[in-house]
This record gives sequence, structure tokens and C-alpha cells, in this order.
Amino acid sequence: HADNAMYIAKERGKNNFQFYIYEDKDIFDRKVKIERGLNDALINGELELHYQPKVYLPSGKPYGVEALIRWKHPELGMIPPIEFISIAEKTGFIKKIGDWVIQEACAQAKSWKNSGLNVKMAVNVSSVQFEDDFFVEKIRQALTDSGLPPEHLGLEITESVMHDLERTTATLHELKRLGVKVSVDDFGTGYSSLNVLSSLPIDLVKIDQSFIREVLTDPNKASLVKSMITMVEDLEFDLIAEGIENELQVNFLTKNGCYLGQGYLYSPPLPAEEVEKILKQQLTTV
Ligand code: C2E
Ligand code: MG
Ligand code: MG
Ligand code: MG
Repeated sequence: HADNAMYIAKERGKNNFQFYIYEDKDIFDRKVKIERGLNDALINGELELHYQPKVYLPSGKPYGVEALIRWKHPELGMIPPIEFISIAEKTGFIKKIGDWVIQEACAQAKSWKNSGLNVKMAVNVSSVQFEDDFFVEKIRQALTDSGLPPEHLGLEITESVMHDLERTTATLHELKRLGVKVSVDDFGTGYSSLNVLSSLPIDLVKIDQSFIREVLTDPNKASLVKSMITMVEDLEFDLIAEGIENELQVNFLTKNGCYLGQGYLYSPPLPAEEVEKILKQQLTTV
């Protein structure tokens, strides 16, 4: 494993290290800083959730929000989640981060609910978290602690959890009994077929943004999106398109039967106070 090779080389000292080109050392140092900084990040409040609205495409009214984690590292600045989440998955620290995300998101949704703003809250769940024996229990606890009704919480999982189908199916049934909603994120980028999905108790399928990005320029992507819409409709899952950046994409989607969406056209992910303003605007002005 490349990471381990570099790590061993460094531990052994300078003589080994000279075999690695300078960029590798920079990348390596950054990874080590990220890995070692995660615990402090959690304790010192360097982690924050931003929220991106999901909207009904025909009306622009809010459907819910997705919580997306942000880390402002004291030395490295903003670190994108794709970078530190993958490191945290390897070390297992993602479980602690994930617990925090769920608690924070539930508390925020409950606080919005108390102030009359009823929005569904969705959180991203790594397969490492999802496969933890205590996962469902943790969700149940977070709901109890926050007082958020289960149907207000959604979990976004990816097709990567489908490799252990038996276990995933069991967990999904427990979550359904609990009353939380589950969506399949980044749909179309993995290997699971709609055939597999059809047997699972899920509520929502998210078409990956790579399809939406090229839906107007690549006829292949356009026909793939059309067939996803038709098939998902037949299975009676809801469908949402991610990464919507312009009106032409909205027209394509609504013309073909996809009525939920998310993307920079409506709003980027924003801190709670800012997204709150946008949600209130969307509720009143459209
Ligand atoms: P994702 O769940 O598929 O989230 C969508 C990503 O697309 C987000 O990137 C979002 O900011 C970005 N996005 C939204 N609308 C647009 C658009 O119109 N155009 C473009 N180009 N991008 C758009 P972000 O926030 O950098 O997150 C990246 C990924 O990191 C997420 O992908 C998710 O897999 C992971 N992630 C984020 N927060 C968490 C978390 O709390 N827990 C876990 N396990 N993973 C997380
Ligand atoms: Mg997501
Ligand atoms: Mg996605
Ligand atoms: Mg993604």
C-alpha cells in the first residue's frame, strides 16, 4: 500500500526518504497533518456543517436540506470533505465524526422545526459508519436526544454499502422500522443495478451530478438520465437530481419526469443562519 510505504520510509529516516520525490513528501505530510488533526478538529470545534437546499423543481419550494461537513484547519485552511473523509474512513475516526454530524444535524433540524421551519434533514453516511454494529442504535439515540421526529431525518448512503447485501438489507429494514428515510447517493457511478435497488427498502435515489453536468451536451448522458427516471418511477422511489446549475437542466429534468433537485442554481451549501434566510425566502416568494 502506497501510503504505508511512504510512512515506513519516513519512520526509518532520511536515507530511505530520498527515494521519494518532493511532491510525495508534501502529500504525505499533508495526510499526516490531516490524520493527526482530526481529533483536535472535533474537540476544538473546527468542524462545521453547511446545508444545501433541495427543492421541488416545478415550484422552487424547499423540500429539505443536505448537511455537508466543512473543516477549517488552523494551518491548512479549508480542507474539502472528499480529502479528509477518505482518510478518516481508513483510520476509523469517521465513526466519531459521523456521530457528531448526526447529532449536530438533528439538533439543527429540531431547532428549525421549533421555529416553524419544517425541512427534512439529510446526512451523508459513510459505509464504515453504516456497517458499524451500533449504527441504528446511534441514530435512535440521536433522535431521542434531539427530539426530532424520525421522518424528518434522511440518511444518504452510497452503492458502496451494497457489497454486503444481506447485512445492508437487514440494516435498512431496521431503519425503516425506526422511521428514518434512506436515499442512495451518487446513483449511476457505482455497480449496483436498479434490480438490486428494487429489493431494498429505500425512499429516494439521487442521480449523480456527473450525469446532470452533461445532460444537455452528451446525448448518452441524456438517455441514461431518461431511463433512470423511467425505471426509478416504476420502482416507486422518489428521484432527485444533484448538481443542477442552470435552468436548461431544470427544463430537461421536469420535461422527463424528475421533480426534485439540488444544486448551485438554487443555493450552494451554506452555514445554518444563511440557509435559513434562503429557505424562508423560497417558502414565501415563489
Ligand atoms: P455528496 O453527498 O454527493 O454531496 C454533493 C457535493 O456536490 C457537495 O460537495 C456539494 O457541495 C457539491 N455540489 C452541490 N451542488 C453542486 C453544483 O451545482 N455543482 C457542483 N459542481 N457541485 C455541487 P462537498 O460538500 O465538497 O462534499 C463532497 C462529498 O463529501 C459529498 O458528496 C459526500 O460524499 C462527502 N461528505 C460531505 N459531508 C459529509 C459528511 O458529513 N459525512 C460523510 N460521510 N461524507 C460527507
Ligand atoms: Mg450526499
Ligand atoms: Mg452525491
Ligand atoms: Mg458525490
